[in-house]
Amino acid sequence: MIRDNLEIVEKNIQAACERAGRDRSGVTLIAVSKTKPVSDIRQAMECGITVFGENKVQEIQQKTEEITEPLSWHMIGHLQANKVKYLPGKVCMIHSVDNIKLAQEIEKQFSRHDMNIDVLIEVNMAHEDTKFGLSPEEVPSFVKEIASLPHLNIRGLMTIAPYTDDPESNRQYFKGLRELMGSINDTNILPSKMDTLSMGMTGDYEVAIEEGATFVRVGTGIFGERDYSV
Ligand SMILES: *Cc1c(COP(=O)(O)O)cnc(C)c1O
Repeated sequence: MIRDNLEIVEKNIQAACERAGRDRSGVTLIAVSKTKPVSDIRQAMECGITVFGENKVQEIQQKTEEITEPLSWHMIGHLQANKVKYLPGKVCMIHSVDNIKLAQEIEKQFSRHDMNIDVLIEVNMAHEDTKFGLSPEEVPSFVKEIASLPHLNIRGLMTIAPYTDDPESNRQYFKGLRELMGSINDTNILPSKMDTLSMGMTGDYEVAIEEGATFVRVGTGIFGERDYSV
């Protein structure tokens, strides 16, 4: 099933790239394996997937202990500052930086290991009360505040769009995230320009690619529905 699902997702990604006149190599598929067993991850690995996304630090610790093959793990979920210490050496990117205290703790823990870490700023584009992330208006001053932390490479922005049956209704948020990155890049707040947009999930990754996503985070579309009761 995972193999068939991956084939469908890959076809959809290619079609979206074609519609947008984009090169397929500009989009990385993150297979979101949260709540799923290591056996599922291994099936995806057999299909050539090497980039996985998780939203809990403890699950990343367990899975990276069991699976020692070289993979890229992305922390995509809400992150508490007191858990950051477990991440150096485990993840290649943190997608969910949304407050100063967290940014400072990431700086502290990664500098201890003499490591730099790629980070994205999470933006709550639709101003949903239920979601983490900064409101778009807050992002420029936040970037300015964390720009001087030497062990953080601020690579771009991430958003989780509203849950919807109509992916077109999220196009405005993906377009808005791209424009927000562009407007920050037009200032000289950062020493190097941001180049990463993490946006689009199972329900809306094709629209996100059309609007410039460089990472899409697909869970259900690859591994099937999640069961949170176990
Ligand atoms: C769970 C999750 C996803 C994947 O969601 P699906 O709808 O299953 O594709 C993507 N991004 C984040 C941040 C998630 O927590």
